[in-house]
Amino acid sequence: MKPDINWNSIKTVLLDMDGTLLDLYFDNFFWQEYLPKQWAKLNNMDAIVAKAQLHDWYTKEAGTLSWYCLDFWTERLKFDVLKLKEDVEHLIKYRPHAESFLERLEDSNYSVIMVTNAHQNLIKMKADKTKIDNFFDRIISSHAIGHAKEDQMFWKKLQIEVPFNCDETILIDDNLTVLRAAREFGIKNLLTIAKPDSQNPEQETEEFAAIHSFQDLVF
Ligand SMILES: [Mg+2]
Repeated sequence: MKPDINWNSIKTVLLDMDGTLLDLYFDNFFWQEYLPKQWAKLNNMDAIVAKAQLHDWYTKEAGTLSWYCLDFWTERLKFDVLKLKEDVEHLIKYRPHAESFLERLEDSNYSVIMVTNAHQNLIKMKADKTKIDNFFDRIISSHAIGHAKEDQMFWKKLQIEVPFNCDETILIDDNLTVLRAAREFGIKNLLTIAKPDSQNPEQETEEFAAIHSFQDLVF
C-alpha cells in the first residue's frame, strides 16, 4: 500500500525514533547479538544458552514498559546496560533521507513531536550522536508518561500533555502494534516504515501503508 496523506489537513506530526528515523540495526544488533555474548562471558555461560535465556525474557516482556527500560534490564542482568551500549554506539545512524525529512519538517508549520518508547538516557545517547533532538518541538518518552505506546493510557496522557486533534495528526512508526493502538485511540493518519533495520529484509506491513523512502513524502 502506498502512502496517501493529505498534508494540508495535518497540524501535528508524531514521529517514533528507533526504526523510523534511526536505523534499528543498532538496537537489534545490541539486544540480539552483542549483549547476549557479553552477558554469557561475564557469567561464564555458554553463548547459545545465554541467548536462549535472554530471548525467553525478551518474549515475556515484549511491548511492556519494562522491555524498553534500561533500569529494568540493568537490574535483571546485573550490569550497566547503557554503558555496554556505548561499545556499539558507532552503529547509531539516521535511516536514509531521515535527516533531510526532519529539516523539511523544521521549515514547515507543523508541530513536530517525538513519541518514543526509548528510555530518556538512551534518547540522550542518540541525541548526542545525531543531534536529532534539534528537530523537535517536544520529545516525549513513554517512560515519562508511565505507559508504553502499545497502551491506550499512553495516548490519553499524551493528549493532555501535548493537545492534538486526532483528525489533524499523523503518526509515523515502524511498530505495527503501536500503530494499531494509535488507530484505536482515533489518530487518523498512520504510516509505517518498510525497512526499519538496514541489515534485515523489509518487514510485512500488513494493513498499513509503508514509507519506502522519506523522499516520497511531499508536503
Ligand atoms: Mg520504533
